[in-house]
Amino acid sequence: MKTIEHWIDGTATPAGSTRTARVYDPATGRQQAEVLLAEPSDVDTAVAAASKAFQSWGDSSLSQRAKVMFAFRELLVRHEDELARIISSEHGKVIDDARGEIVRGREVVEYACGIADALKGSFSDQVSRDVDVHDFRQPLGVVAGITPFNFPIMVPLWMHPIALATGNTFVLKPSERDPSASRLVAELYAEAGLPDGVFNVVNGDKAAVDALLEHPDVAAVSFVGSTPIAKYVHERATATGKRVQALGGAKNHAVVLPDADLEYAANHLTAAAFGSAGQRCMAISIGVAVGDAGDELVEILKRKANEVKVGPGDDATSDMGPVVTPAARARVIDAVAGGIAQGATAVVDGRGHTVAGHEDGFFVGPSLLDNVTVEMDAYREEIFGPVLGIVRVGTVDEAIALINANPYGNGTAIFTGSGEAARKFQREVKVGMIGVNVPIPVPMSYYSFGGWKDSLIGDSPIHGPEGVRFYTRAKVVTTRWPHTEAAFTFPTAG
Ligand code: NAD
Repeated sequence: MKTIEHWIDGTATPAGSTRTARVYDPATGRQQAEVLLAEPSDVDTAVAAASKAFQSWGDSSLSQRAKVMFAFRELLVRHEDELARIISSEHGKVIDDARGEIVRGREVVEYACGIADALKGSFSDQVSRDVDVHDFRQPLGVVAGITPFNFPIMVPLWMHPIALATGNTFVLKPSERDPSASRLVAELYAEAGLPDGVFNVVNGDKAAVDALLEHPDVAAVSFVGSTPIAKYVHERATATGKRVQALGGAKNHAVVLPDADLEYAANHLTAAAFGSAGQRCMAISIGVAVGDAGDELVEILKRKANEVKVGPGDDATSDMGPVVTPAARARVIDAVAGGIAQGATAVVDGRGHTVAGHEDGFFVGPSLLDNVTVEMDAYREEIFGPVLGIVRVGTVDEAIALINANPYGNGTAIFTGSGEAARKFQREVKVGMIGVNVPIPVPMSYYSFGGWKDSLIGDSPIHGPEGVRFYTRAKVVTTRWPHTEAAFTFPTAG
């Protein structure tokens, strides 16, 4: 049985861990590896290595950091096949989908290659006689990243390229369900010329997370995962004086107006609801059918859901793989059963779906539930599986009110032929990321990613300009040349 170790100070290390967790192949249902679960002493070792490395990396030149990022970007391109296979085998998603997350994550590295521009400060000449003012930003020190299972490479890439390019050192605690991609990333950074100790990976569970949240030498924590854990991480880490960005769960609504091209909208709803078996923070889990769009939309969605090819991730003909664990499969099946028991109409029921030759895999087929209402658990809870619920409303105003009353605010989309409706929607909806005829877009790396309400705890979105701000602190310097006499009155510009 393969053991997945930590990566500390430039080398694979078992450190002091004795506890382990299973890593499955979700397509076969078999355990394929065990991953070490760090003890607080392992976290201490990693943070000590990162603290030591910060002494020189924090002073490295912008050119040196950019050079590492350019080399790392090339290695991500060269190792795309290998990374995609690793992700697919531990997560279950189809290989092309895994490639997609590598490409979207790589865009953040490309942004970090331009760090010299992103870190430029400002300068004001002659604010007073012989006095100038400038500002500049400095790294925080050791920062930690705690990431979810559903994007094992893209979500960590939202964090560490920006953190490292701004001069910090990093300790990553990836999801214990699919940790191997992070290990390869650590090796690629080493090959790209990143000094030992600048990027470390500590595998683990709550014990490792708690040790990072409490550690006095961790200056900031980036978290992406479910909302209850995001709230916990935000509360605990801010209580110990750390800067925190904490992105949580989602319940993303896609509104379909009667004037939309319904075939086009249904195509996108199907891909966004069932792609990656619905395990995306930007998945569409609720379709909001406005007016008389409902009947025809549900008919087309039914046809398309039945056409989705469910199979192992390494089969090029599969559209959708299994979910990540047996517990995730059980949760999805329960959610569909609960929705039906509470009055939803099961237009397509994926609960009994099996894949020939993979009977023990964690497969569940697409489910389409019509006539979902806000009181149902299937509406209120994040199912995080291939389940699309349809809520019917009369007007676009009702659709907006529905979305605004939902506690989550990660992403939303509108499908319409009306620019006026789209403009009203984007201005009135209380959601951080919006698609117009685009199903829940992940913003490009030179914008920042972040939801509203329970989808983002605190006020720090991730990557892009917000990432640069998060991982640095500003200094403002006021300089006078030559010397003049001191005055006892409070200095003002003269
Ligand atoms: P999760 O919250 O269970 O785990 C996330 C991380 O927290 C993991 O590293 C895990 O080890 C750790 N963790 C889990 N339980 C903990 C506890 N009790 N104490 C301390 N740490 C703990 O999330 P997941 O199941 O891995 O991922 C799916 C969730 O992530 C979904 O809710 C999804 O919407 C969300 N997500 C959000 C975004 C976003 O950008 N907003 C992106 C991806 C995923």
